[in-house]
Amino acid sequence: MPIQNTTSADQALVRELNLSLVLRYIHNEAPVSRAQIAHVTGLNKSTVSSLVEELLKRKLIHETGTNSGGTGRPATLLEINPHAGGIIGVELGVDFIAIALTDFTGNILWRQLTNVDPNDAQETILANTIKLTDKSIEVCEEHRLDCLGLGLSVPGTVDLERGLLVFAPNLQWRNVPLRKVFSEHTGLNVYVENDANAAAIAEHLFGVARKSNDFIFVVVGIGIGGGLFLNGNLYRGKDGFAGEIGHTPIVAEPYQILCHCGKRGCWEPYANQGSIIQRVQTRLENKQDSIIAFILEKQNAPLSMSIIKQAADEGDRESLDSLAETGAALGLGFAGLIDIFNPEKIILGGPLSIVGKYLLPAIIETATSHSFSDTSPNAEILLSSFETDAVLLGAISIVVDDILSNPTYVERR
Ligand SMILES: [Zn+2]
Repeated sequence: MPIQNTTSADQALVRELNLSLVLRYIHNEAPVSRAQIAHVTGLNKSTVSSLVEELLKRKLIHETGTNSGGTGRPATLLEINPHAGGIIGVELGVDFIAIALTDFTGNILWRQLTNVDPNDAQETILANTIKLTDKSIEVCEEHRLDCLGLGLSVPGTVDLERGLLVFAPNLQWRNVPLRKVFSEHTGLNVYVENDANAAAIAEHLFGVARKSNDFIFVVVGIGIGGGLFLNGNLYRGKDGFAGEIGHTPIVAEPYQILCHCGKRGCWEPYANQGSIIQRVQTRLENKQDSIIAFILEKQNAPLSMSIIKQAADEGDRESLDSLAETGAALGLGFAGLIDIFNPEKIILGGPLSIVGKYLLPAIIETATSHSFSDTSPNAEILLSSFETDAVLLGAISIVVDDILSNPTYVERR
């Protein structure tokens, strides 16, 4: 009868929600006992036992010793089972592809990085990515792990429902059906997410924002993107494109720098990786005895972030001043984010993390002096726990996050 069907559907939904509640609690607080779970979730003990049995049966959690500290009977403790399965994460960067295989707790078992020429055809870059994915599946099999899913993080806007990359300005890619391409090839559950959003999820699941409900992840490399984690969830906006903070206009006067998006006055070109290289180059024109000139000649290589970092490590003035200038330009945008969102934290990650420690003081100083409120405490500004790996771990985290939300829908390959 229809009513009965509705009831059983409701019951299945309630059970799924409760399984997710318990699994997330174990993920966040492990090791925990069944009694603790019942106490915190408000579920009765027999329900908790039944939910835990199901999660054990599905190999998503396992028992890990006993808690003998208390006065009562020692309780068996539970934690996430790292061997629940393998997860593949792909970071589609502007000029690189990074891929990793992790266990269910995000420990990296294998990884690879390939440099890419952003001018290469989309088909070539995708074919290379598919080859790397095939390799990761082989490694997953060698580890005797079921593969639980594939996450792709991309430097652009995403249609989450369709797994579609809508627009990546720095690659000039539009409407690429990434989920379709990768799920047809691998047979895996495929998730596609914007790079900064993915990194924000990684930071919330595994990093410095584990206990934060209001924070912003800012990924800086060739582009600048933001993951807005507000009121305990990612904020996506009406069309799912919220967080394109790099393209907020910050310069009003004429002669502004042209951005990759085709517009002028955006924050991004004043504060991205290219801005540091540009600033160093300008300084080198007037000062040829910098350590950088010496390193460039010795390595016979073009100016890069790793050379600028090397020079900064040796105290090179031109590098340090250029980094501080870009740090200040980043800080201006951070001040805007603080004024609009009043976040608890702003986390900086992505490729520019390699010089993060040189950027941070100028970011904090400028953000503090330019943000509106000087009476209430400002946001804490800090570097990502995963530095340059933040977006790669983000690709892993979007798969983990979905399994934590839908524990019974896990497909194993
Ligand atoms: Zn722009």
